[in-house]
Amino acid sequence: MPGQRSLGLDGPRRILLAQTSFAGDVVLTLPLHDALAAAFPAAEIHWLVRPAAVGLIAARVGVDRVHIFDKHGKDAGGAGLLRTSRRLRAGRFDSALAVQRSFRTALMLALAGIPFRAGFADAPGWWLYHCRVARRGTHASERLLALAAALGVAPEGLSLPPRLVVEPAAARRIDVLLEREGIAAEARILVVAPGSVWATKRWPAAAFGALMVSLVPARFDAAIVVGTAGDRIACGDAVRVASGARVVDLCGRTDAAELVALLARASCAVANDSAVGHIAATLDVPLVSIFGPTVPEQGFAPRGAHVRVVGLPLGCRPCSRHGTARCPLGTHACMVDLDVADVREALLAGLEPPQGGQVTG
Ligand code: SF4
Repeated sequence: MPGQRSLGLDGPRRILLAQTSFAGDVVLTLPLHDALAAAFPAAEIHWLVRPAAVGLIAARVGVDRVHIFDKHGKDAGGAGLLRTSRRLRAGRFDSALAVQRSFRTALMLALAGIPFRAGFADAPGWWLYHCRVARRGTHASERLLALAAALGVAPEGLSLPPRLVVEPAAARRIDVLLEREGIAAEARILVVAPGSVWATKRWPAAAFGALMVSLVPARFDAAIVVGTAGDRIACGDAVRVASGARVVDLCGRTDAAELVALLARASCAVANDSAVGHIAATLDVPLVSIFGPTVPEQGFAPRGAHVRVVGLPLGCRPCSRHGTARCPLGTHACMVDLDVADVREALLAGLEPPQGGQVTG
């Protein structure tokens, strides 16, 4: 079992950030990356992420610095973990920060033989880390940023949100895709993301549809619906309700890099508490983020001057940390009672010149 250890005086030369959680969590980890990059300009900083997140950061850090752990696909199970550990061993990292609290990650980094490993003190497998860091801070970005202390970095004054970079090739693919759909280069685009991994975090698809009908073409030339393959039902239902409006369904048709490029072209975005909101915030796109079973005070809301969070003032909120499959009360009132008019009002207010971030509900 490793004891508490610090890195040598020279500092790290080759750092691995292991973050194989959801895409939104990768965005929340960017301030940690930026703090390390500022502190160690000569060091290489690599990422270990899920396949779906590669496109988020490859343009930012370079493709050769992104490593994939397909933990729910071809790298699932013990054999996949061993295989990934061997790949990481070949990377000859001198230090690794485990951003997730995961025993699998702790074990993989140990098997990779990385000589200095750090993670959170309350993480499963904490005893496999040479340095354990207490989680502190009110927002998830700040809590993750605390890990920089393991490498002797005390980040202060970092601007949030961090920036994602639009990959030129992805931007060209989006331009072609939109042109084929009849969307002009100067069109005012509303990006709509009705999906979420968790059912209780989804505002009803019919409400998203009605919102689009109320805004297109009155305020936007077109609405573009986005989501992963798992969001097909929610996206399809929203598109059907909005069938009279100019709506393009790109659900399952964009990878992460293309989603960044698409959001960079958007005039506004509306999303549940999901990755799309975090990405829009990093691009300074006016965003309405719809919260139900979770609340911003839990520290996972998108941040930025153009972010508006809407949610109902119910005593049962929050009822979970990350959302659940079913409402414990059986009502799902936090979402089904949220009016289209309220979301519309927040969205239109967000199109006004920025007055600073605003949180309601
Ligand atoms: S308990 Fe309340 S906050 Fe949780 S899902 Fe049900 S209505 Fe929403």
